[in-house]
Amino acid sequence: VRERYAAKRPNSAALHCQAVKVLPGGNTRTVLAYEPFPTAMARGDGCRLLDIDGNAYLDLCGEYTAGLFGHTERRIHAALHDAMERGLSLAAVGEAEQHLARILCSRFPSIDMIRFTNSGTEANLIALSAAQVVTGRSRIIAFRGGYHGSLLYYPVTGSSPIAAPFPVTLCNYNDIDGTVAAIRSAAGEIAAVIVEPMLGSGGCIPAEPAFLAAVAEATRAAGAILIFDEVMTSRMSQGGLQERLGILPDMTTLGKYVGGGMSFGAFGGRQDVMDIFASKVPHAGTFNNNVMSMAAGIAAMGEVFTAAAAANLFALGESLREQLNTISDKAGAPLQFCGLGSLATAHFRRGRIDRPYAITPREEALKELFFFDMLDAGVYIARRGMTALSLPMTERDLTQFTAALEDFLDTRAALLQ
Ligand code: PMP
Repeated sequence: VRERYAAKRPNSAALHCQAVKVLPGGNTRTVLAYEPFPTAMARGDGCRLLDIDGNAYLDLCGEYTAGLFGHTERRIHAALHDAMERGLSLAAVGEAEQHLARILCSRFPSIDMIRFTNSGTEANLIALSAAQVVTGRSRIIAFRGGYHGSLLYYPVTGSSPIAAPFPVTLCNYNDIDGTVAAIRSAAGEIAAVIVEPMLGSGGCIPAEPAFLAAVAEATRAAGAILIFDEVMTSRMSQGGLQERLGILPDMTTLGKYVGGGMSFGAFGGRQDVMDIFASKVPHAGTFNNNVMSMAAGIAAMGEVFTAAAAANLFALGESLREQLNTISDKAGAPLQFCGLGSLATAHFRRGRIDRPYAITPREEALKELFFFDMLDAGVYIARRGMTALSLPMTERDLTQFTAALEDFLDTRAALLQ
């Protein structure tokens, strides 16, 4: 499979050989690195991609959810051109940041006030630090398999070799009793509980509403701050997954598509929490209100990703996942697609999955095979098996994926027994 992959991508192979001389591992973003070398893309149009060897793809990686608008959303491009004409580095406050802030505060039920950063990682780091200031405590509770950024990553087995210096207690996702007990037993020490309402990079595993509700109650009883990391899940409705579930945190972090495809992060929440930034806590950042992210974000969230667009995309994703699971079931394959709305991850195991697990070598091998077979069929998914739909997609585009899955299950039937 790898040989076939390499044979169709001589230019990507050559580019990688050059890259490793100046970029450790040949990249500046670990998630894009895989053996034997990653496919390099040349351009995108709508929901389609073209690599530097001329191979075309349906883009189901969707920039790991930041590519919600596809590659050529005209309203966003027009806003960016307008912003560029007015100058890039004004070193001043302007109308744009409060415009985007108003849009987001009105969309997310738990966000009274908001501040911008350049990435989801930064948004989470600062939200957690804010919780420490507000509570006067230092410990945070997070979940195994949770991902809150490059420095805030909690693998299921072992630990990340690079981590933010927060004292962390890890709990198991969807484990109500264990989590509530952990919060209670350290109640006086906990500044914040940070949780993704659906684990994103941890495998698109949704939280059970009862779990989130119990965590919310225990967190408040402990006098700690509940942070929903909605960097990935905010696309589930106009006001995020919190709105869909009707469970509200004290603080919410955002990122990815909210900046219309530009670098972006944000954290917001209750006024009394956010107020610390009006007085005692500084939060700086040269590019926090950069004109490109602000302009693209206003167009994206104000005009393009409307409530109706969010609902349609959610429905498209639900229908796709149902089809993928029906196809996999019919083939009797140990394969299921977990997720919610427009996000899904392929898991090569049977049975209910309600928390992340240590992947077996066989599952990993099947996942790799699936990835390369999808690329061969012109379907670009994340190497970890995640798919993220984008607004330009129609049901017709997605038949390419369902057909590719049917082929995969057919040609690889013997390996899947
Ligand atoms: N939180 C979650 C849930 C994420 O999925 C990610 C990125 N994959 C981040 C935070 C970090 O965002 P960024 O990559 O913009 O730093």
